[in-house]
Formats: sequence, structure tokens, C-alpha cells
Amino acid sequence: GAKRSGRGRVKVFDAEMRRELHARTELERDLSRAIERNQLIVHYQPIVHLASGGVQGFEALVRWPRDGRLLPPSAFVPIAEESELVCDLDAWVLRQATRQLAHWNERSGSRWLSMAVNVSGRHIVRPRVVAEVREAVAAAGVDPAQLVLEITETALVDDSIAVKHLDELRHDGIAIGIDDFGTGYSSIARLEDLPIDILKIDRRFTHTTGSSPRLLRMIVETGHALGLRLIVEGVETEDQLALLRSIGCESAQGYLLGRPLDPDAIAAPQQRGAPRLVRAGMRQEFSG
Ligand code: C2E
Ligand code: MG
Ligand code: MG
Ligand code: MG
Repeated sequence: GAKRSGRGRVKVFDAEMRRELHARTELERDLSRAIERNQLIVHYQPIVHLASGGVQGFEALVRWPRDGRLLPPSAFVPIAEESELVCDLDAWVLRQATRQLAHWNERSGSRWLSMAVNVSGRHIVRPRVVAEVREAVAAAGVDPAQLVLEITETALVDDSIAVKHLDELRHDGIAIGIDDFGTGYSSIARLEDLPIDILKIDRRFTHTTGSSPRLLRMIVETGHALGLRLIVEGVETEDQLALLRSIGCESAQGYLLGRPLDPDAIAAPQQRGAPRLVRAGMRQEFSG
């Protein structure tokens, strides 16, 4: 009868939930182990200064080699974010990225390159975060002014602890960027009160149809009026690039300008705006 099949369904649901829970637990355990064993890798995507065409810095983006595949952050960061594990993940990437930056500093004999690192909302509110960032910067021996921490707007809005931590880090000279700007719910008026330096405009505003160039222009103008630096994400076509130039956006990031790459595929930057890709067949976009 109906009752019996109902109970059957509950059982199937139960088994599925158990399987999923098991897979999650396993993934968490493997990820935690991969972090401990230094098995994650970081790719670096160039951020290009549009007026000169040169690279101004890189964003560090984590990947996880697992079962012969390279997992993208979407496959494990959301799960890491459900626990404190994401703090270990972020801290590991931060250490790795600051070391890579130190290496590039050494090779170029200068300290102009910037390095952007993503920090999850869960991590930025943790009491230890400020000390952790300072330690990574000091251990690598990079200039704090070279570091950019990227936080999403939802992590900042109405979170006084996050704001306090960012304030402290900013006093050291570290820059703060709002990631995926325009996808959250913060009002433009609130931006003025936040301890931030950079707006990274989400790629949805780049993929223009109809009225969105006007929206993009408005965000760029507002950002400038507030004294913020602007980076547009997800630039894939020459048309998009031309639009960004025409509305006075200073910097951009996207597949057109350079994909996230293993650091071995990126030649050490020799002088401002001149790092080059070394892997054969790659676009020599960095020659500016
Ligand atoms: P995000 O910080 O907004 O990083 C930009 C994402 O856009 C990257 O995806 C990058 O590969 C992708 N992208 C860059 N240019 C283009 C383009 O022209 N077109 C398209 N369609 N996509 C482009 P990725 O590497 O898969 O990272 C996804 C997200 O994962 C990041 O978004 C960031 O929120 C998160 N993430 C990455 N690394 C870390 C990390 O170390 N810690 C934390 N907490 N989150 C991370
Ligand atoms: Mg980011
Ligand atoms: Mg982003
Ligand atoms: Mg994003």
C-alpha cells in the first residue's frame, strides 16, 4: 500500500544521503591531507594594466590534483567553506603565493608586482587571520604593499569583525579588493565606509548585452569617485577590452589577456610590465 512504498522511499533517500555524506567526509579528509602534504597547486592569472598593456600583478587560484584530474576550486572550496578547513586552505595558498612573489621579486630585482589572494568570509573573521597574514608576508620577505586580499562583498557587509581585521591589515599597507563586485547586495553608498582599495567587477558586467555597458560605466565612474582602483574580471574578447578602455577602466583580467597558469609557464618578470609567457604556443600578451 501507500504506506509501505512511502517508507521505502524514505529508506532510499536515507541510503543516498548516507552515500553523499560519506563522499563529503571523504573529500574533506582527503583535502585536509592534501593541504598537510603540500599537494595542492596554485595557478597564477595575470592582471593587466590597460594603458600600458603590461602585467601589474597576478591572482593566485588554487587547484587540487586528485585521481589524475586537476579539480577546480568550485569542486572543493564550497565544501571546505563549511568548516574551518577553508582557513587552512586559504593560509596554505597565501604562503605559497607570497613565496612565489618573493621568487619573482628576486628574479626581477624589484618589488612592483602585486599578488592577489582570495580569502573566504569564514577565514577573515577568525581572530588569528591578521597574525597569519603578517607572518606569511614576513616569512616570504615581500613588501606588504604588494599583497592584495580579495574578499566577496557578502563577507564584508554588516560584519564588523571582518572590517576590523581588514582595517588592521590595511594599516600594514596590504590592499583590500572586493571580489565579484556587483553580485552581492551591498549598496554603493556602503562602499565609502569599507576599508577597501580595489573593486573587482564581476564578469557578468563584461558580457554585455543592451544596457549593461551603461551599468559598467556607472560602476567604473562611481569606483573612481570613491578613489578605488578598478579591475574588470572575465575579459574574453577584443570588443570587451575596447569597451573597458573607452570607459576608462584601468585594469583587467580574463582569458583574452592570460589564463591562470602554472608558475613554471610564466617567465620571471624582468621589468615593470614585461613578464612573458615561456610555454610554446601561448599568447605573448605580457610584452605590453
Ligand atoms: P574569483 O576569485 O572570482 O577568480 C576568478 C575566476 O574566474 C577563476 O576561476 C578564473 O579562472 C576565472 N576566470 C578568469 N578569467 C576568466 C574569463 O575570461 N572567463 C571566464 N569564464 N572565467 C575566467 P577559478 O580558478 O575556477 O576560481 C573560482 C573561484 O574559486 C574564485 O573566483 C574564488 O572565489 C575561489 N578560489 C580560488 N582560489 C581560492 C583560494 O585559494 N581560497 C578561496 N577561499 N577561494 C578561492
Ligand atoms: Mg578572486
Ligand atoms: Mg572574482
Ligand atoms: Mg568569481
